[in-house]
Amino acid sequence: MRIAVLALQGAFIEHEKMLTQLGVECFEVREREDWCQPKDALIIPGGESTTMLKLLTELQLLEPIRDSIEKGLPVFGTCAGLILLARKVEGDDVQRISTMNITVCRNAYGRQMGSFFIDGKIEGVAHPVPMTFIRAPYIASVGNGVEVLAEVSGRIVAARQDKQLVTAFHPELNNDTSIHELFLNMVGEKS
Ligand code: GLN
Repeated sequence: MRIAVLALQGAFIEHEKMLTQLGVECFEVREREDWCQPKDALIIPGGESTTMLKLLTELQLLEPIRDSIEKGLPVFGTCAGLILLARKVEGDDVQRISTMNITVCRNAYGRQMGSFFIDGKIEGVAHPVPMTFIRAPYIASVGNGVEVLAEVSGRIVAARQDKQLVTAFHPELNNDTSIHELFLNMVGEKS
């Protein structure tokens, strides 16, 4: 298995470390040429979604990535990655990757309130997992085909649609590899 990690900005190295720890090969996507390499899945890290969107557009990566996801390439988006994958972000009409049938509320808790840590329950993992929220969004509503995987304080913070997985928090910033394992299992599932 070989996983592409979008490495334009943000916490991509932490995802790479997690994958390496799990014995999975990965490579960084920094430009269009990188994207042409064979891959089984994509990870879009946390960071700043506005900056990532600008770079994706300038590098002409936005459409090829959207196209691959629409054709079934598994994708895991954390925090800013979740924002990029959401079909709708409350308060704007910006076109992003926009492949997942969710509406997201961005910087939902204000700059400070969106940063906190808890151990939370997520569907598919037997034990509570560490969840680090950093200026985190939350999922305000989900549409057809989306399964809610985790809620914190009544707000949706993880979801799945087919082979798309998103978390509002950063599983790559702790030592627990469960959510990456969950994703890798999804990648291996027959569709
Ligand atoms: N609030 C950020 C954004 O809009 C996401 C924060 C994060 O990825 N930690 O992109």
